[in-house]
Amino acid sequence: MDNGQGIQVHDKRFEPYISAERLHARIREMAAELDKRLGAADRPLFLAILNGAFVFAADLFRALTIPAEISFIKLVSYKGTRSTGQVITAIGLDMDLFDRTVVIVEDIVDTGNTLHAFLPQLEHRHPRALLTVSLLMKPDAAVHPVPVDIYGFSIPNVFVVGYGLDYDGLGRNLPAIYRETVS
Ligand code: 5GP
Ligand code: MG
Ligand code: MG
Repeated sequence: MDNGQGIQVHDKRFEPYISAERLHARIREMAAELDKRLGAADRPLFLAILNGAFVFAADLFRALTIPAEISFIKLVSYKGTRSTGQVITAIGLDMDLFDRTVVIVEDIVDTGNTLHAFLPQLEHRHPRALLTVSLLMKPDAAVHPVPVDIYGFSIPNVFVVGYGLDYDGLGRNLPAIYRETVS
């Protein structure tokens, strides 16, 4: 059944899931919590993971009131050898993280593979503190437990698009989150 609000992205149907109003209300709460937790930190550095987190990071960062820096990195993942497993390379991670308070900003933590492989690389640079913030998380899909300090919404194992998240490159400009319609 289609209630008329369903949308098509590439070759799949999606239905409204988290409205723009709910997203913005929750992001204001998350920013308030970050204001509180980071209030004593010297110039916390937000590191947003491209591409998916760019919309969330922009709204979250504008809702902060503390002085903070932001930068954007891209994670490229490729299958390593049997012993190295999944290998992640960070593009744009050229700043000095030593003794900094670093806040990773993700769109969604799904299997946890990406952050599981990437967080140790950050720890290697000896930040003073490392916090992880994700708009969404899918606990049922977790393969690796990843420490997510603050998340916006916990969702079931469904495929979502919008608000920065894509399907085949499309859907990132949708102002709300939509979930795939499974018939
Ligand atoms: P991981 O499985 O490594 O935790 O997630 C890696 C990335 O896959 C996420 O940061 C996100 O970019 C993408 N991803 C995971 N689940 C979804 C989803 O439901 N929709 C979209 N559009 N991307 C997802
Ligand atoms: Mg991502
Ligand atoms: Mg994607």
